[in-house]
Order: sequence, then structure tokens, then C-alpha cells
Amino acid sequence: MSSLVGPDEDNPLGKPDVPEHVQDAIRTLIAWAGDDPQREGLIDTPKRVARAWLEYCQGYNEDPAVHMSRVFEEVGGYDEVVLLKDIPFQSHCEHHMAPIIGKAAIAYLPRNHVVGISKLARVLHGYARRLQIQERLTAEVAQCIWDHLKPQGVAVVIEASHACMTARGVRTPGVGMITSRMMGTFLEDERSRKEVLSLMGY
Ligand SMILES: [Zn+2]
Repeated sequence: MSSLVGPDEDNPLGKPDVPEHVQDAIRTLIAWAGDDPQREGLIDTPKRVARAWLEYCQGYNEDPAVHMSRVFEEVGGYDEVVLLKDIPFQSHCEHHMAPIIGKAAIAYLPRNHVVGISKLARVLHGYARRLQIQERLTAEVAQCIWDHLKPQGVAVVIEASHACMTARGVRTPGVGMITSRMMGTFLEDERSRKEVLSLMGY
């Protein structure tokens, strides 16, 4: 009797199993693109692609709001903008499943509490690791912080390039798209908005 405990010989790293129908789908795509899915270099590609997509879309398995659940009420009288900028991220566009690569700046004006600074990046990644459009990603990150941290203001600016534009279609490498979402004070008060945008470097 073989033991089920310990690493599987065929799968020593314990990678997720990829069902045959998922591999078939990727073979179909390879053939459709013009190559032979049975040639040596492509034999294990369907499994790799499938596992890569599990990683790209990890965000479906989490609720980014959990990162906002642990807040610190002791803010030491600090009532100015908290900003995390140049946060690199990767996402995939829902129209072409092509990479979106960019950086985000996330700011909020605390009311009574703050959150660990790394949590802002986690919220971003939680929404980025899904099939997205940049406009929705921007709005979802801002809304999540707004709803759960209840700050006086939230500002999110995302700058990204879309492989569906740079590598295909109109093929315009170097073109970046900027989206922003302002809420609360940053939406209502022009001075606050200008201040946060200048802190972000815009
Ligand atoms: Zn696209």
C-alpha cells in the first residue's frame, strides 16, 4: 500500500492539479494560433498556462475588504494625508485577457483611525488579480477604502499600459493610461485635491 502522506512523485511541489478539459482548452487555443500543441516544447504548456492563470486571478479567492478590518485608533493627532505611491501592480484586461502593467498611488485622509500602510497595496492587488478594466479597478480600490476605513477622503490614481494596446491592435508602445477616483474631501475641496495630486507627483 502506498502512503498518501508526503510529496507526490509526479508533482513534488504540490502544484494545483489541472483538469484535462482545462488543458484541452489551452491546446485548442495553441492550435488556433497556428502551432502544434503536441510538439515537445508545448507538451507541458497547457498545465503551466492554467496554473499561471490561477495566480493572475488569485483575487477571486479573497475579499480585499479583509485588509481593512484591522485598524489603529491611536493616530497621535495625525490628521493629514496618508499616501502610498508608486505601488507596482499587474492585472489583466477583461476584453483581451492581456496584461495591464502599471503603478498606483493611493491616499486617504484619516478620520479616527489608520490602517497598516501595506494594506493599501493588498487591497489594490486583491482587485488587480482579476480580469479587469482600469476604470473599475480604480473605482473598486477607492470604494473599498471608503466603505471600510470611513476616512474623510480617498484618492486613487492608476497609471498603466495595456498589452492589448501596446502589443497588438494599434501597437503603441509607451502609451500609458491614467485613471483617478476622488472621494469625500478630495472630491469636494479643490485645494485638498490639488494637494494630494501634487503629493502623488501629478
Ligand atoms: Zn484589452
